[in-house]
Amino acid sequence: MKRITRHLGVLMALWAMVMGGAWAAPSIVVSQATLAKGLCSEHQPESPVTLPDDWKAHKLALPAVACYRAKLHMAQSPTVAWALRIDRLPGNHRITVNGIQLSTRHMEGPDSTSMATLPYLIELPVNVLLAGDNDIEIDVRMGPFRKPGISPLVAGQISDMRQDFDTWTSLTVDLPKTLNWTVAGMALFLLLAWRARPSDKVFAYFGGLMVIMSSRNAFYFLETIGWPIPIVDWLFFSSQAVTTFYLFAFGMSYANVDLKRVINPMRIMLGMLLVASFAAVDTPYMDTLRMVVYPMMMVCGIVVVIKVVQEAWKRHWLETVFMTAGPVGTLVSVAHDYLFLTPYLKVTDLFWTPYSTPIIFLGYALTLMRKFVDTMNLSERMNITLEERVAERTRALEVANQSKTRFLASASHDLRQPTAAIGLLVSLLRQQKVEPPVRELTDMLDEAVASMESLLVGLLDISRLDAGAVQVQFQPVCLNDVFQAVRVHEKSAADAKGLQLRFRFPANAGPHLTVLTDPVLIHGVLRNLVANAIRYTQQGGVLVAVRRQGKRRLRIEIWDTGIGIAPDQQERIFDEFYQVGNSARDRSRGIGLGLAIVRRTASLLGEQVSVKSRVGRGSCFSIELPLNHVNTSKPVKPASPEHPMAGRNAWIVEDDPILRRALGEMLQSWGAQVRTWPDGEGLLDELPQLLASTQRQQRPDILITDYRLPGINGLQLSQTIQAYLRESGVSLYTLIISGDTDPAEIARLNASGQPVMAKPFRSERLLEQLLALHQAKAA
Ligand code: ADP
Repeated sequence: MKRITRHLGVLMALWAMVMGGAWAAPSIVVSQATLAKGLCSEHQPESPVTLPDDWKAHKLALPAVACYRAKLHMAQSPTVAWALRIDRLPGNHRITVNGIQLSTRHMEGPDSTSMATLPYLIELPVNVLLAGDNDIEIDVRMGPFRKPGISPLVAGQISDMRQDFDTWTSLTVDLPKTLNWTVAGMALFLLLAWRARPSDKVFAYFGGLMVIMSSRNAFYFLETIGWPIPIVDWLFFSSQAVTTFYLFAFGMSYANVDLKRVINPMRIMLGMLLVASFAAVDTPYMDTLRMVVYPMMMVCGIVVVIKVVQEAWKRHWLETVFMTAGPVGTLVSVAHDYLFLTPYLKVTDLFWTPYSTPIIFLGYALTLMRKFVDTMNLSERMNITLEERVAERTRALEVANQSKTRFLASASHDLRQPTAAIGLLVSLLRQQKVEPPVRELTDMLDEAVASMESLLVGLLDISRLDAGAVQVQFQPVCLNDVFQAVRVHEKSAADAKGLQLRFRFPANAGPHLTVLTDPVLIHGVLRNLVANAIRYTQQGGVLVAVRRQGKRRLRIEIWDTGIGIAPDQQERIFDEFYQVGNSARDRSRGIGLGLAIVRRTASLLGEQVSVKSRVGRGSCFSIELPLNHVNTSKPVKPASPEHPMAGRNAWIVEDDPILRRALGEMLQSWGAQVRTWPDGEGLLDELPQLLASTQRQQRPDILITDYRLPGINGLQLSQTIQAYLRESGVSLYTLIISGDTDPAEIARLNASGQPVMAKPFRSERLLEQLLALHQAKAA
């Protein structure tokens, strides 16, 4: 071991030579000296020593003050400044040459002693050294458990010695000190990483180990530690104990040994050791404790290092190399430095741990970095795979969605025809005077058809909204008018359940409050919400309240005193076909599309629908709208006179014979004159002849045509006839009825600008639409 140390010293000296250029000019080395107890001024008995020496050899009990004396023989007195270089000297010393005090450091007071011996270069001014023997006296003070002794004294010209000395100091003091402070700082980052990922205990153990070991190493190189010796001693003992604890915990975690059972007993043992050592501070027991505990720690360290190395050999070669070299190197260094406690090592030997600790840190940091990079690569690869999978699934979903849309489109188109016919026929049937049992059956039939119709209408609405086929037309809308329209539709349902349906405006606003929105869409939203409120309320009432939201917006709230909605359902009710507690899918309780349509419509308007509710207490749905200050909206008229179509001529083109007949009879019952055709070509053939007739009733007021017809379609038909009639000066309004759910077809119809009504429809809606068209034409 000594040889290794010497080799290291030679290496450093060579390094110093390279750094410092040529070896310095001749210098005088003094290795013979005397040592006496106490200060030099006390002149106690001296005994000869050869430097480097070791106090242990002289049986001086620490802490102690001692005096070195040596003679420097000069052939002649120097004409330039010289210097005295001492490579190892306690930080607490006083140097006197020929009775002149040249340097004194930390000799006052009992407390501060340096941990390690350090290199010093003391300048000898021109007039200090004389020809012949010069007396050198060095007072030193050492604390207990410090490295005792001093190195040989070297004297020479200061200009020749300076650079060499500086290099030596950088390599043996500045470098290890800086390295260890840096590692301590970096280890703090590991502790921060552990804070961010508490499950990674290895970070905590390794970070703690490195912070303590490195800062303790860096402390070695301080010239003096300002605290009382017993406290410093206790701190150093504690740091060894804590280091062993962390080393154990880190090694075991690294080797994947489960620590759950042992970690707490170990913490207790550590705590007890710290308390016991504190009690032993400044007593002879402290040294006994050290001599007992340190070997135990050493054994523990050996076990841990074996475990770590075993584990490292299973890993990547880089990790194997570093995790073997680092811990084994540290163990060897610790053993080496431990020998300073014994007389085996000279004072000129170096401490090894300050060099090996940064290496173990570097090794583990590299290991961590490799893991980090591997994890990043893995997560990148996984991300790419995931993205590919998502893209694949999205494509599959799109295909499935398209085929669902196609299926729905054709199924609902085929269903719409008969449903529309049945609906109109049932309406006609209800207008007949029939016996009570038959009326009851008709009513039931009417209900069944109504629920079938609402399903088909809902499906159509959803696919129209999804296909982007609904155009929003923002305009000033009088809220009161919308409320009246909602009241007309929903009042009977509320009355039937004995519920109050009320509408309330803010106290300081008149009923002519207007908002900027699409009248048809907002009407649909409010009607849906009010219908739900009535449907899910048995007692109490429904209140539609308007509140101001600042100056520019207001909020419409639909309150009910109904069954309420549990918090975990409040988001799901907006999904298609989702109904709370209707797993039997009882259709009298709605179909579960209303809120899905409401949410989509509201988002088209640029708004959101929100809900607050308490089970058993009631619910409140609300939507905000922007205010408009000018009232220009037209009232929606809920008119229904007895023969609203009296005196009008209606032409109907519908290929389905039953629906054709039902439509014809319906319009006739409203007082209209009706002509029907099964296809467009038939009508076009007859057209010249019909228009040529001078009879007033031959000229049409309205054309109702199906969209999908054999031959030319309803859109082409209505456009052809309109063009034709314009030439003859006859004005006609058309209504295309369509059962299409194919988004492309819907979009085409919408783009044409022709009024369109979706099948199936109730007779009231048809009438509403016809009257509205008539009004528009009149205007
Ligand atoms: P539907 O009313 O046709 O079932 P919706 O989409 O309109 O479909 O509503 C979905 C579900 O939300 C309803 O089945 C009901 O359980 C619940 N719901 C909606 N409005 C209310 C309300 N005002 N009070 C209690 N529950 C409601």
